[in-house]
Amino acid sequence: MSHNRPRVCLESTLLFAIPICLLAAFAQPSPTHPDSIVVFAPHPDDEVIGCAGIIMQALARGAQVKVVAITSGDGFPAAAAGVTHKPVDQVGPDDFLALSRLRQTESRTALEILGGRAADLIVFGYPDSDLGNLYDSTDDKVFRQQFTKKNETYALIQKDYHTSVHGKPAPYQRSSVLGDLVELLTTLQPTEIYVTDETDGHIDHRAAFWFVRDAARQVGYKGAFYTYLVHGLPSWPFPPEITPNLRFESRKVDGEVAPRGLPWPPPRRVPLTREQAQRKLKSIQAHNIPVVGLPDHQKEMESFVKSEEVFWTPLARSR
Ligand SMILES: [Zn+2]
Repeated sequence: MSHNRPRVCLESTLLFAIPICLLAAFAQPSPTHPDSIVVFAPHPDDEVIGCAGIIMQALARGAQVKVVAITSGDGFPAAAAGVTHKPVDQVGPDDFLALSRLRQTESRTALEILGGRAADLIVFGYPDSDLGNLYDSTDDKVFRQQFTKKNETYALIQKDYHTSVHGKPAPYQRSSVLGDLVELLTTLQPTEIYVTDETDGHIDHRAAFWFVRDAARQVGYKGAFYTYLVHGLPSWPFPPEITPNLRFESRKVDGEVAPRGLPWPPPRRVPLTREQAQRKLKSIQAHNIPVVGLPDHQKEMESFVKSEEVFWTPLARSR
């Protein structure tokens, strides 16, 4: 790549974070729906990049489907600049909110393209680019997002999750993220969870995994737990083009096997029909934001259109 940002979905800074395991487990009530999936997206667009086919197939068989946008994708200056037609160094809080609003709208549209309802998009509204910092926080301090200047959850075209349930937003704290996740899993009792993989190159994606894993452990979750890969390292996906007739491949990049840190073949490969692959493409195209300096961004997102979707089961060994 000609740029050193994480590619594919729109987000921001790479930071390091250290996972901490929560091991508490509690009794689990019966599922509210016998077939219920929840797809967690660190940013609006990850859900279709990784799971559009899964969402389509679940809806087609009558399953309950919820998509949870953990952030609104409001932390990417080049995208805010693209949306507002301003130079990157001149975007301010209102421009990041405009980006946030647009990305929520796009996720709702994409879900409808897949056969779902816009109302099944749940927006947590935590800060894009700060999920790793929140996960690592040892004193549970309240963060203020540097781009929007917000310090509590929000959503602009619907109520954010915490406000819809509790009547007021949640402060940007580690305990808030975990609390919302625990509450959501307790309420929905999903039979399948999907979240970005721990090996992902983007810190928000790794932190999403850590938070969802910890919440699942806290509620004693016994359903299926799958991960999907967006910013695979050192490069991903292969083939690096839209190839609706081909499966994902592992390849060597500079002597290193990609994707890094994951078994290949993946433990779960879900075939997509040609029609499903085409609809996945349309759902990705619903996320259409010009990003200053990244002219190939849209093409990279669309390169996840294959004849299958692939998933890993990182928690299976620990059970
Ligand atoms: Zn993302």
